[in-house]
Amino acid sequence: MNKNKITILVVDDTFYNVQVLSIMLAHQGYAVLEATNGIDAIELAKTHIPNLILLDIKMPSMNGYEVCNNLKNNPITQEIPIIFISAVRDIEEKVEAFAIGGVDFINKPFHLIEVLARVKTHLRISSLQTQLLEQTKLLVIQNVSLQAELSHLTEWNEDLYAELKKAIDCQQMRLFYQPIFSFESNLITGFEALIRWEHPERGIVSPVDFIDLIETTDLIYPVGRWVLETACEQLQTWQKSFPKYSDLTMGVNVSTKQLSEFNLVEDVRNILRTSKINPHCLKLEITESTVMGDRDRTLQILQQLKDLKIQFCIDDFGTGYSSLRRLTDFPIDILKIDRSFIHNEEWVTVKAIGRLAFTLGKSIVVEGIETATQLAMLKTLFRSSLKECYGQGYLCAKPLDSDSASEMLASNKKFVIA
Ligand code: C2E
Ligand code: MG
Ligand code: MG
Repeated sequence: MNKNKITILVVDDTFYNVQVLSIMLAHQGYAVLEATNGIDAIELAKTHIPNLILLDIKMPSMNGYEVCNNLKNNPITQEIPIIFISAVRDIEEKVEAFAIGGVDFINKPFHLIEVLARVKTHLRISSLQTQLLEQTKLLVIQNVSLQAELSHLTEWNEDLYAELKKAIDCQQMRLFYQPIFSFESNLITGFEALIRWEHPERGIVSPVDFIDLIETTDLIYPVGRWVLETACEQLQTWQKSFPKYSDLTMGVNVSTKQLSEFNLVEDVRNILRTSKINPHCLKLEITESTVMGDRDRTLQILQQLKDLKIQFCIDDFGTGYSSLRRLTDFPIDILKIDRSFIHNEEWVTVKAIGRLAFTLGKSIVVEGIETATQLAMLKTLFRSSLKECYGQGYLCAKPLDSDSASEMLASNKKFVIA
């Protein structure tokens, strides 16, 4: 059976009727399944899930109503539209056919033109219903995220929101930079920009305490733009000041809201133009949940950004859930393996993620490397692909303010580990 074709199951105990209908439907380009009794019809419906069923009513041992009942009670087959074809004239029997879930009724002797017209109509209705169902699911997801946003604001965050708004206006946000190094050369190849809040009383506040609120509210727009601008300007300064680091890269975290509701493409285009950095050196870090959002819209935005020649990482890979299909469909360059796998020494999983990445032509950044033993283990695991492997973690350096990061680059320190 051709899997791309629309499949119709024809059920009639009169073999001649099955043959006539099959020939006509096959001639129209449909794939046809045939059954001359109820048991075979149910089996074929369960195993092949046809797009539509033409079902005779009067059949020995199991009649059409019983077949229909059985299919409607099975979650696998209950959505398949069933058109009854029968010589039944009694109006009550016809009503019964609709009551148990049939979508239409054709009288015997049937006319092929009428059968075809009804088949086409019901296939169209069924396809529209499927689309509607998918859109409803999407709306439910969006509604849930809106509700979450609302409850965020109302339950515990009103004060923090006001405080953060003020902090942004007073320019209390800072960027720290954490080095990323190559497994092959042991040299720093880039940084990840990480936000901090320099609180007048509390000192440096970690993003863990406020980034959720920023990411789920309108605050993400000014903050997101500021982070991108500042990180790209800093990258340009470093590339210019340290010719040895002219290929230095910069990772910038981008939230789902920023990607989907914000004019990110235009902003990135402008920032690249003003900072004059090589777009290839900018790596936007998105999460698995961003990847799993509205597929077409996300793909469209990622593609527009990719056309600017920037790179994409999936951050904290392995902790959420992503589909392998999206991993290959979407223009992703790097998987950042979540630090929990390193902390828990889940080496089999780490190796499997690495292999997956290399097979798909992507490189990896292993997050959260804190000890020399962990790095040695990782280098052993990936010894044949060191070129594609990068690391980030306290072993090399904690996130640094821009002066300390500049000093690190100036010292041109090779990150040597046994
Ligand atoms: P992330 O993007 O996964 O960043 C890595 C986090 O791991 C950073 O936490 C970093 O300090 C921490 N880290 C790095 N190496 C080690 C290590 O060896 N051990 C341990 N235990 N931790 C390590 P940080 O800076 O607190 O950031 C937390 C998260 O906040 C980030 O996770 C990111 O999701 C978010 N974030 C930070 N800056 C931004 C930003 O500018 N925009 C957005 N949207 N999110 C940001
Ligand atoms: Mg990140
Ligand atoms: Mg991460």
